[in-house]
Amino acid sequence: MKLILLGAPGAGKGTVAKLLTELDGSVQISTGDILRGAVNAGSDLGKQIESIMKAGDLVPDQLIMDIMEERLQQPDCEKGFLLDGFPRTIPQAEALKELLERLGIELDMAVNLQVPREVILDRLTTRRTCSNPECQAIYNVKSNPPKVEGVCDKCGSPVIQRDDETVEAISHRLETYNEKTAPLIGFYEKEGLLTNVDATSSQVVVDAIKEKLGL
Ligand code: AMP
Repeated sequence: MKLILLGAPGAGKGTVAKLLTELDGSVQISTGDILRGAVNAGSDLGKQIESIMKAGDLVPDQLIMDIMEERLQQPDCEKGFLLDGFPRTIPQAEALKELLERLGIELDMAVNLQVPREVILDRLTTRRTCSNPECQAIYNVKSNPPKVEGVCDKCGSPVIQRDDETVEAISHRLETYNEKTAPLIGFYEKEGLLTNVDATSSQVVVDAIKEKLGL
């Protein structure tokens, strides 16, 4: 399947993407994970974007498009991909449309994960992430804590609160979402690709997508 997952930070795009990869071998492509990996590795790219990410601002469109142009041509994307956190702006959506046309790739749909703001705020402030750039497993102190406090079940690395998950950074990310990313809902509606889904439960989203795709 070839999907775009739309929705505010904390809507559950990453969790849904992970569940979907188990269905047909499609790969999850999270620009946030790629960028955090670069920051943690201390690469030139990482140094360039660290302060932008910490403040909850968006990384420049061209930089994201360069990363995605390369990523979408890797062989593991042939079976399908789940775009998680990309595109994030109208210029990214337009550039993606042009890129996919050039590569001869057709999207199945753009799924908009709808979650009430109170749920989003609660999820983000209680979310914890594995600090290992290769892992980045996601936990929640209330609903899904690691077996040993502060230690990743999967790789044993420290589990931390992301720099951009302080209350200030979260409210800034939500403002950025409303201003820059929410307009993508109208964009994909016009393209005839939009599906809105109630995303209070990730499994309900997965079931709705399966039904739409006839899986
Ligand atoms: P996420 O893990 O998707 O919440 O992304 C974390 C941070 O990475 C965002 O707050 C942005 O700073 C940056 N980021 C991720 N994806 C994009 C994108 N498509 N365009 C611009 N910045 C992005």
